[in-house]
Amino acid sequence: MLAPRPARGNNRREEPAFIFGAKQQMEAPAKLQIGEFTIAFLSDGIWRNDGGCMFGVVPRELWQREHPADDQNRIRLNLTCPLIIRGRDVIVVDTGIGNRLSAVERRIFDHGEGWLIDGLQALGMEPGDVTHVILSHLHFDHCGGIVRRRAAGGFAPAFPHARIFVQRDELDLARGTRNERLRAAYRHVEECLQPVSGSIEAMAGDAEIVPGVSAIVSGGHTEGHQVTIVHSGGASFVHLADIVPTRSHMRGPWNQAYDLDAIRTMDSKAGYLARAVAERWWISFAHDERVFAAQIENDRGRLVLGARIGVPGGLDGV
Ligand SMILES: [Zn+2]
Repeated sequence: MLAPRPARGNNRREEPAFIFGAKQQMEAPAKLQIGEFTIAFLSDGIWRNDGGCMFGVVPRELWQREHPADDQNRIRLNLTCPLIIRGRDVIVVDTGIGNRLSAVERRIFDHGEGWLIDGLQALGMEPGDVTHVILSHLHFDHCGGIVRRRAAGGFAPAFPHARIFVQRDELDLARGTRNERLRAAYRHVEECLQPVSGSIEAMAGDAEIVPGVSAIVSGGHTEGHQVTIVHSGGASFVHLADIVPTRSHMRGPWNQAYDLDAIRTMDSKAGYLARAVAERWWISFAHDERVFAAQIENDRGRLVLGARIGVPGGLDGV
């Protein structure tokens, strides 16, 4: 087997956003307190994806003002993985891309080894401490980090003691579809799920994962797509995953070309954002390269960011 090529682009170790030299010197992730829960904003790294795919029907002329594209039409994105902690409960929401990509895919997406485990260790934790993983859906940039590529070949569970929560509809679609577009979107799934098959909890709709933390089906992006909500002590946090992947997607019609039901994405998004404004919820963005999480405000009909937690090195100009 060929050795993987060294990571290039934005995951190079000299990239200033998170990593300063050796990985044990990684900056400790930013935290937010929601009642009894601490939420730490882990990232599995910066990557790039086609801007047209990220903004669907929105013309490049409009999205490139806030999301400049490179010479391959790719925009800079994050892989936000909120870590929800209360006592012994340690819950990872989505797992990023991980280190399973081929050398060609690493070049296409400008992603390297993945930083999720480094971020956990910067908090003084180990992968074995994670008790639950909630997967919003099974696209490669959300479930890839559920496994780690072993030096000896093959894949091992990234979080060996965690129960993994995913909607049964999403599992069935990912494993059973004969549609060409969907088969391409889920071609990585067996590689990711086979090593963890004994730990997967197939969910039939909304569920409370631990008291105060729920996974709620949103649909839209995929039929089984789910968001994660934390309510505690009068405060609330929601990770909307690919329903609002960047700050720009707060606008109703700004949705990804990947959405299987864009109208349902818009309905879900409108409902959650209205509640977030009215009840001062914190929301986090799955792929925003500048902002991990924010409270949002309605400024004469336009949603804007209020208090926020920025991605280190990425906050300029928001
Ligand atoms: Zn995504």
